[in-house]
Amino acid sequence: MSYSYDDNNIFAKILRGEIPNDTVAESEHSLAFRDISPKAPTHVLVIPKGKYVSFDDFAANASDAEITDFMRLCAKVAKAEGVALDEGNGFRAITNAGNDGVQEVPHFHLHILGGRNIGPMLLMRE
Ligand code: AMP
Repeated sequence: MSYSYDDNNIFAKILRGEIPNDTVAESEHSLAFRDISPKAPTHVLVIPKGKYVSFDDFAANASDAEITDFMRLCAKVAKAEGVALDEGNGFRAITNAGNDGVQEVPHFHLHILGGRNIGPMLLMRE
């Protein structure tokens, strides 16, 4: 898998306003919205507005301003959802990358999951 960006991926369509989303928070360079198929009471996806395929693409190629903006929005979401450690009970932040990471949507996104015990980090399979 390369960093070649697919403009037709579903999050690109969300960013262009072509399909609806349940926005939780927005900043200059990032958007946070509820996962359409939530796996926990809190399941928010945070994405950069820029065209980054995966975590490693974003970490390597995004500007300092985009990275800072993204991280700050993640913190804002965790706090707003009541899962941040200052007031809440915690959460898990997950990002899947590429084939082995089983990434479905090829636009970088961080899952923020909380509101219940999220369980073991991985279910091991043979
Ligand atoms: P990943 O496997 O990490 O690429 O996760 C993709 C996530 O995007 C899944 O949890 C899906 O439920 C979620 N998803 C797919 N389409 C939408 C959509 N239109 N709005 C919100 N979440 C979506």
